[in-house]
Amino acid sequence: MTDRYAVIGNPIDHSKSPLIHGLFAKAADQDMQYSTLLGETSPGGFARAVDAFRAEGGSGMNVTVPFKTDAFAYATELSPDAQLAGAVNALKFEDGRVLGQNFDGIGLVRDVQLNLGLPIAGRRVLVLGAGGATRGALLPLARAGANTIVIANRTSEKARALAQDFTPHAKGVTVQGCGLDALDDQVFDIVFNATSASLGAEMPVISPSVFAPGALAYDLVYGKGLTPFLRLARDAGRSRVVDGVGMLVEQAAEAFEWWRGVRPDTREVITRLTVPLV
Ligand code: NDP
Repeated sequence: MTDRYAVIGNPIDHSKSPLIHGLFAKAADQDMQYSTLLGETSPGGFARAVDAFRAEGGSGMNVTVPFKTDAFAYATELSPDAQLAGAVNALKFEDGRVLGQNFDGIGLVRDVQLNLGLPIAGRRVLVLGAGGATRGALLPLARAGANTIVIANRTSEKARALAQDFTPHAKGVTVQGCGLDALDDQVFDIVFNATSASLGAEMPVISPSVFAPGALAYDLVYGKGLTPFLRLARDAGRSRVVDGVGMLVEQAAEAFEWWRGVRPDTREVITRLTVPLV
């Protein structure tokens, strides 16, 4: 029987997940169907939609904006990454159990280390933003052995609170939180833009001096070309600039392997979805 999966979000039409999982399934010869599900944002809307999908025999789901915290509450068992992120982006339904995972941070780290060939171990890492994507990235970045992680956010208290919450899980990595205006003379080997500023063609206000020579400037947003953040890094003249398409495909590959027990090849799918950074 064909196994059924879906991505739930609101809005959902823009989602690349059906295309990505369709390509994975074809290449890995998997008998599965993957669709989109528009969730209702009214109270209880997420749970009703997921209950109905499970009742129809659904095997698993991806979860996107704005339902990642609803999925966290819905899951009956959570992975450590999901627990720390306070958010779930993939669900698996098994004999009445609902397993919740958050693969966003793992996808990010795999993209940097495997696709871009840059080991994170020993690097000074700056993460701009203190929302869900940053929460999901912290544990995988610490696991990968970052030297230091600085979280800088427009609302500085959020960055400080997140750094404090995360410190007991940081595996010896120094973690600090501050405002965007408090980076002083600090310099970083990897700068992630995990704010949603690029979605509105805006930019977190930072100095180009944060980029060390040869630094990686990585905008988590994808499909937007050269965002203002990436332009700042490029104009600084010494950074490699990359967007989040690889992260998107790698987190999907993690979910696919979790559901199907088969590791899909990501390179061709990333190439297909890449929008030139111009
Ligand atoms: P959230 O809404 O949880 O957090 C948004 C963050 O952006 C907050 O820290 C907010 O600061 C900050 N922010 C928003 N606008 C500005 C601005 N103009 N200047 C400075 N800071 C700003 O979003 P997420 O964490 O879920 O997502 C962040 C980004 O990551 C999005 O672009 C999203 O598309 C991308 N993403 C990419 C994925 C991928 O697979 N490639 C996966 C997940 C996310 P404040 O607290 O002050 O409001």
